[in-house]
Formats: sequence, structure tokens, C-alpha cells
Amino acid sequence: MQDLLNDILEEVKPLVGQGNVASYIPELAKVNPNQFGIAICDTQGNVTKAGDATTGFSIQSISKVFNLVLAYIYYGNSLWERVGCEPSGLPFNSLVQLEYENGIPRNPFINAGALVVSDMVHSRLISPHVALRDLIRKLSGNPYVLSDVDVAESEFEYRARNAAMSYLMKAFGNFHNDVEEVLHTYFMNCALRMSCVDLARATQFLANRGFCTITKSDVLTGDQTRQMNALLATSGLYDEAGSFAFKVGLPGKSGVGGGIIAVVPGRFSICVWSPALNKMGNSLAGVAALESLTRHIKWSVY
Ligand code: GLU
Repeated sequence: MQDLLNDILEEVKPLVGQGNVASYIPELAKVNPNQFGIAICDTQGNVTKAGDATTGFSIQSISKVFNLVLAYIYYGNSLWERVGCEPSGLPFNSLVQLEYENGIPRNPFINAGALVVSDMVHSRLISPHVALRDLIRKLSGNPYVLSDVDVAESEFEYRARNAAMSYLMKAFGNFHNDVEEVLHTYFMNCALRMSCVDLARATQFLANRGFCTITKSDVLTGDQTRQMNALLATSGLYDEAGSFAFKVGLPGKSGVGGGIIAVVPGRFSICVWSPALNKMGNSLAGVAALESLTRHIKWSVY
């Protein structure tokens, strides 16, 4: 495994720094693009890593995976009454579909979907951000995971689009709590700082039918894990999900901080990170690294 990761690191080196760091969140634009890390966590909990795998970065939309876990815990399958499970085929922050689909977002991994899921979690918990952070701390085995308040504040300042989606859903009756409060939680969740090692460990349950070897307990049922992986495969990489399936062939979730988690069911979870993004908003070197990985292991879910 170590040789594999070293080979991938060498292979993608020329691509690191190519693309652009996300600039629509001003605080993220300050990140040095010339960084790359990769970590793998197998179903026994063993971690292998290379490059900047222990450097913390903003997990952004990868937090949507853990938020969905909370919704599963508190709502079970009834959560699907308020959010769909179809790919959207539109940018992650698009508003148009919401209008003609009566305020029901296509899936939990576009912003509108994640905002409804956050709203649902808000209805059940007094401190939803603390609950999410604690879940992540437990799953990763890192009790020091924290949010970067500067990133969260930066996002809150530029919240107009996410606020517009939330108010539109409220108009359709699919958003029950105070919009500004839910947005605050959502941004704090996106602003969590974690490393590739933390994220590979925290998502290992997805490769292990819902069982986390770190906490030695079930995070999701086998059936829920299968559903989560299916959604990750169809909707986890914004509107590049199709070509990611084509090139990589693994369930995955990306974030505009440049991180991508991916799952090889039954074997291991992976996290790659490199801050510069391609035109679709996914880490350019990260996608290439995962492509190289599935080529090397000669395995994909397809
Ligand atoms: N916090 C970001 C937003 O709401 C998440 C974007 C992402 O990583 O996809 O715009």
C-alpha cells in the first residue's frame, strides 16, 4: 500500500497546483495551492499515507456526508420525504430546479439538499454543529477536530445564494427553522478542518457496511450504507459525477476546499487533497490521483 501511494504521489506531482483554488469564499482563496496529500484507511483501521496527509484543510461539502448520517440517525428512512435521491445535473448551488420541483431538492449532496438536511437536524438537536463535530471526532479518533471560524464567517458574509435557496424552500414549506441560524450551522460544518488521515478514518465505515472500527460500533445499517454509497456514486462530485464514475468508478464526495473522499467497498476508504480545482470545482490533482489508484488496484464498483 505504501508503494502504491508513493507511486501515485510521483505520478500526480506535475499536476499539483494546476487549476484554481476556490475564490468565491475569500478565506479559501488564501490557501497555498501547491499541496497534495493522500491517506487510505482499511477495514481493520490501518492507515497508510503520503504527501501532506496530516495537514488540515477545510472539508467544505464533505461535511454533507456526516450531516446525512445525523439525519439517518434521527429520521431513518423518513428523511427521504424532504429530499430526493436523483442526480441534479446542475451546478451544486443552482436555484432553478427548486422552483419547478416545489422546494424538494434532488439529493442531499447539492447545497439545497444539504440545507434541508441541516434544517431537519436543527429540529432535533439544540447544538447541531457540536453534534456533528463530536460525531466526526469519534469517527476519526481525533478529539481536536475544530471549525475554522474565519472560513465560516467568510461564508456567512457571502451567504446570499444559500440564503436564497433556503428561503425558497421555506416558501414551499420544506424548511422549518430560522434560515440564518441553520445557515450558521451549515457554514460551521463546512468550515471543519481535517486532514486526509482524519477523513480517511472518519469515512472508513462506508467501506465496512456501516461499522466503524475506531468506535467499534455501527454508524449506519448495511442498507443505509449501500444507499449512501449509491448516492455518493451518482451525486458526490457535483456535475462531474458522470465522468468521475467513468474515470474512477468509486463512490466519492468532493469539497471546494480541494478534498475528495472515496470508498472501495469491503476494502478501504481514501481521502485525497490538493486545493487547486478543475473547472467543475473538484480537486484537479485529486481526481487524477484517484484515477491512478483504481488503475493500479484494477478494481472499481463497476
Ligand atoms: N460551503 C460551500 C457552499 O455552501 C460548500 C461548497 C462545496 O464544497 O461544494 O457554497
